[in-house]
Amino acid sequence: MKKLNFNIPGFELKIKLNSLETCSTERKEGFVNKINALIGEIVQDQFKLVANIKDENGFKISITGIPDPDIKTYRINLDIGLFRMLYDGLYVVLSNNNIFHGLGKSFRRFDIPTLSVPNWELLDLAMANNDDVYFDTNRMYLHSFLYELCLSFIIRHEIRHIGNGHIDYLAGKLQPLFYENSKNGLDALDSQTLEMDVDSCVFVGILNGLMKFPEQRNRMPEELQDERGIFMCTLFAIQFLFYCMPSKKVGSLSEIEACSHPNAYLRYFFSFTAGLSFLQNEYPQHVDLFGTLHQDNFWTFIDNLPEQDPDRLEKIRYDHDWSMSEEGFEYANKVWNNWDNWIPKLQPYTYIKLAPKTTN
Ligand SMILES: [Zn+2]
Repeated sequence: MKKLNFNIPGFELKIKLNSLETCSTERKEGFVNKINALIGEIVQDQFKLVANIKDENGFKISITGIPDPDIKTYRINLDIGLFRMLYDGLYVVLSNNNIFHGLGKSFRRFDIPTLSVPNWELLDLAMANNDDVYFDTNRMYLHSFLYELCLSFIIRHEIRHIGNGHIDYLAGKLQPLFYENSKNGLDALDSQTLEMDVDSCVFVGILNGLMKFPEQRNRMPEELQDERGIFMCTLFAIQFLFYCMPSKKVGSLSEIEACSHPNAYLRYFFSFTAGLSFLQNEYPQHVDLFGTLHQDNFWTFIDNLPEQDPDRLEKIRYDHDWSMSEEGFEYANKVWNNWDNWIPKLQPYTYIKLAPKTTN
């Protein structure tokens, strides 16, 4: 999206966002182009991914192999509700000027009971109960960039499930259709190990792209085009995705053992840790800044969530505290170490070099 500049004294442009724009033919085509560009970047066009965009107001994503005589091909099924939820969830969060303070302005803050809703229609209902919320052009541009960033996290996540061999391994052994929100025939530990694998690869991939390639950094709002801005945006993306989109909060071993994905804080923590070791290897001079921003931003973000339900806020804290407890940390290590068991199993199916064995 192009940045609009209106320099008329005394005149402030106020824009109301509309998630319907994510449903336009142009946007859907843009989405397909994005998939192709990311496949080119991540696995050098070794396979094709056909997008099947439905309109059932679900948050489901599934992937399956489909026959094609020329090139290995997969189909990803996803719902337009996912785009709208991402778009509107960001609209709600960024209507709070404490988040990315000073970067543009929202003229009103959405007042909604919670973001923890199962689908976009419910979010839309809660938002419709508010008066119009307007952004200035800088805030709108920030929203637009973060939307693209979070969306690319999701697409990269699915491409990695294919690239890292998960889909073909499961299709050969357990089931041909991979559902993002299911254990796909695996036990919880194995399913969560594969999810940790893709989240970590994706977070490092995004960080690497923004640090190394000026053409990627140039898409960011100007004020954010330095290391500090890159870290703020990438950390925000995992906070937003793991806390404002549907995610599991747990407070005990028995709860985590029922989940297909690691709980919210562990997903954040695994991604953050992968980013940290990438920076330690490639940009050691920026490690401290990354660590400080993580510490400062995490609770600022949580404290500014539009949660009016004390039980939900309590759950978020519980989930964090459990993850940082001895039991939670032991569990995180179990998931990490389980990666070593998966390397040889996935090897025959991969399109890309897998992450090395764990070293802790
Ligand atoms: Zn996944």
